[in-house]
Amino acid sequence: MVSRVTDDYERMALAGCQAVCEPAFWAGFDRSAAAGFSDYFSQLTEHEPRRAAKFGLKHFCWLCINSKEAEDVKLAEEVIALIPPLLDRPNVLGIGEIGLNKNSRNEMRVLEMQVELAARHEQLILVHTPHLEDKLKGTKLILSVLKNDRRIKPERVIIDHVEEHTVELVLDTGMWAGMTLYPETKCTPARAIDILERYGSERLWLNSACDWGASDPLAVPKTALEMKRRGHLAGAIEKVVFENPKRFLSQSGHFQLGESW
Ligand SMILES: [Zn+2]
Repeated sequence: MVSRVTDDYERMALAGCQAVCEPAFWAGFDRSAAAGFSDYFSQLTEHEPRRAAKFGLKHFCWLCINSKEAEDVKLAEEVIALIPPLLDRPNVLGIGEIGLNKNSRNEMRVLEMQVELAARHEQLILVHTPHLEDKLKGTKLILSVLKNDRRIKPERVIIDHVEEHTVELVLDTGMWAGMTLYPETKCTPARAIDILERYGSERLWLNSACDWGASDPLAVPKTALEMKRRGHLAGAIEKVVFENPKRFLSQSGHFQLGESW
């Protein structure tokens, strides 16, 4: 929501959304110092929940330094040190989205540091996989880091931005898989439904890309409509767009949907 307008909240509420879960993310530009992240974490944990609440939407977030800004390991160390005191804030769900962007050595080092942070504080983990041609290689590297740490429970991890060539690899580990919907490029609603029809909906769910580029906050409700058009039953649609995310996120004691508004 750092690069979205308030009208998006109103449209989401009108479309039947109940909550927004915002990962700590690249803001469209690189921040020059840890202080920039400190302000960003205040935005995610204090200001954004208040903006969302005006439209009856619950706002949750994830905290981390994203992989696009993780090339500078010293900066990453400073940012990671800011996080532990914030984990008790009522809308914080866990550590994310951590992961890899270009699969570099420094990104790997920072990924390991953040997996350690999550393990030490028993946090849920949200993982970003690369959008570049190295998605498969990046996904394998990430899974190896997570599987190497015996403290990490697979059912408490979601690997996001899966596509046809990575979904099975992820589901086989016992982790959850997220399909991120974009209007035209990457995973479109039609492709996501094809994947659901092939792999089923156990530990698989959908989210809307919602960032500084071309993206659509209503991608999940629109995909629900497309599933209906393709003959999926109401219960099956409800499972993918609502019950699955609720089941995963409820593993955090902070996740609670409000009473109707
Ligand atoms: Zn991502």
